[in-house]
Amino acid sequence: MQDRWNAAAAPGADDPLGQCVYGSRLLGAEPSLVLHGGGNTSAKSTVEDVVGEPTEVLYVKGSGWDLATIEREGFTALRLDRLRALLRLERLSDERMMNELRCARLDARAPDPSVESLLHALLPYPAVQHSHADALIALTNQPDGAGLVRKVFADDVVVVPYVMPGFDLARLCAVAFPREAGPHTLGLVLLNHGLFTFGASTEEAYRRHVELIGRAERFLAGHPRAWTPDDRRHTANAQPPPPFHAVELARLRREISDVAGAPMVVSRHDNPTVRAFLSRPDLASLATRGPLTPDHVIRTKRLPLLGRDVAGYARQYEEYFAAHRERRGSTLTMLDAAPRVVLDPELGMLSVGRRAADADIATDIYAHTIEVIELAERVGSYRALPAADLFDVEYWELEHAKLRRAPQAGPFVGEVALVTGAASGIGRACAAALRSRGAAVIGLDVNPAVSDTGSGPDYLGLRADVTDADAVEAAVHSGVERFGGIDIVVAAAGIFPASQPIAELDAGEWRRTMAVNADAIASLLSLVHPLLALAPRGGRVVVVASKNVPAPGPGAAAYSASKAAVTQLARVAALEWAADRIRVNMVHPDAVFDTGLWTEDLLQERAARYRLTVEEYKRRNLLRVDVTSARVGELVATLCDDPFAATTGAQVPVDGGNERVI
Ligand code: ZN
Repeated sequence: MQDRWNAAAAPGADDPLGQCVYGSRLLGAEPSLVLHGGGNTSAKSTVEDVVGEPTEVLYVKGSGWDLATIEREGFTALRLDRLRALLRLERLSDERMMNELRCARLDARAPDPSVESLLHALLPYPAVQHSHADALIALTNQPDGAGLVRKVFADDVVVVPYVMPGFDLARLCAVAFPREAGPHTLGLVLLNHGLFTFGASTEEAYRRHVELIGRAERFLAGHPRAWTPDDRRHTANAQPPPPFHAVELARLRREISDVAGAPMVVSRHDNPTVRAFLSRPDLASLATRGPLTPDHVIRTKRLPLLGRDVAGYARQYEEYFAAHRERRGSTLTMLDAAPRVVLDPELGMLSVGRRAADADIATDIYAHTIEVIELAERVGSYRALPAADLFDVEYWELEHAKLRRAPQAGPFVGEVALVTGAASGIGRACAAALRSRGAAVIGLDVNPAVSDTGSGPDYLGLRADVTDADAVEAAVHSGVERFGGIDIVVAAAGIFPASQPIAELDAGEWRRTMAVNADAIASLLSLVHPLLALAPRGGRVVVVASKNVPAPGPGAAAYSASKAAVTQLARVAALEWAADRIRVNMVHPDAVFDTGLWTEDLLQERAARYRLTVEEYKRRNLLRVDVTSARVGELVATLCDDPFAATTGAQVPVDGGNERVI
């Protein structure tokens, strides 16, 4: 662990909360210390309350804040005397404890305090730091974890056996800590959980964290690696990863989604570390020992799926649930039985989540799991908690509160849409409309600006010319690798050549228009059909055609013919693919002027052709409305949604009403 404390940047001791924020961010900066919500910090201080009474408070990390980015308002001030009174109780349910913690806030609008607040309160030091450091977990997750901890830290720490976080753990520490701690004590080790350090200031607590984690790291480094990514002993018979088959990955995603009862994002990862782990002869043993810390179960489940037998995994999960529910004697409802991590010799490591962000968290956690197992195997034998303890956290109401905070809204959550022409205009608007409904989007465009169409984990922008079949295939492959499949295809890429009477038709222009507007869509549909057929909720295609199909315009022969061709193509697809539960519909936009197709010159030329001003030309529809890209995007997304579940082969105009068509 690197000592990142910078005295010049850190707030002084006269600002205990400011220093705590600073120190929290230092812990948060190292994923090997705190991963996705593991770890928290606090500072004690005295403030004047609203009636001017000096009040001792615990500033403790609030739920939903990440240590790496936490601010002052991420800390909740709790009345310390109230917390100390609670610690005198023999028993307190989690629900009551959370209620009491909320009631002990100085500010009712402050976030829910950490479930570990009472533990912070009982430690008699002004500042406390807590992490789930990899190096410490490698020592504690062992048959003789306590022995190894003693060997490394001697009497400098108090060691407490594993107890589920919450009131019982705080109670246990409230008894054990005063009994065992002395002036030499630097920290508190919770087996199979993590490390607390403390001091007169956050600076001291942080320095003790650096000191203790450093000792654990040096101890581990003094032992030979259990394996390395290029370890010939284990990779000698492992060939370089075969190129994976997108349809096989989509089929696995379909099975996982069916078991989960909802579409899931599946993300594939293959790198030397993963491959070395997957190639180990003892993989089946190592990978089925359980997670690093129990809070990981809500992200990764207790065990990964080895291979592809999703149904077998689900059966085992149901048995595990049935066995432990009986022990708990409660009326728990089973969570979905689908895996969150898959280790497959051919596909590599797959992570699963309702959204791409959830799959990414599972990826991070499992990448650390592989690393910590390796560290643990250097000095002994990796061992996780018994299934019963993990089950109790998996079905712990307070852990599920964390998941509920993540946005899950939208009809397309867990689904994946491929949008061509996504860099601008209608394609870009379709990508936005689909994402706003929860879909992950793969945007394709020949324009490199496609990478700016979206940001965040649920968007992947890829540069590809739709007329280059190899480039499109490579892009689809990358998209499936990122999200696991394709549920929705929106063919929006198109060109609108300069006006040209048939008598002067340029053959090259004609062919180029047909290539982009018709041929490319035929070859794209052919490519994605097997993926769409595996979509958990049924595949959907929307082809962005044109008003020119029912009402062609003079001078636009190539454009009108290409859009008519693609309309017929889509109608045939609707006929052929209905049996595969794939709906194919078309939209016929007209006069959408905020797209890449329309330049000021073109507008003037078109307006002149109809003897109109540009303004008249723009609103020459029956309703006299502006037809914007956003409006077309909303229609396209709605066509993919449930209100149109019984509609295929439809051609929907979005043109403000056109007397030549009506
Ligand atoms: Zn913890």
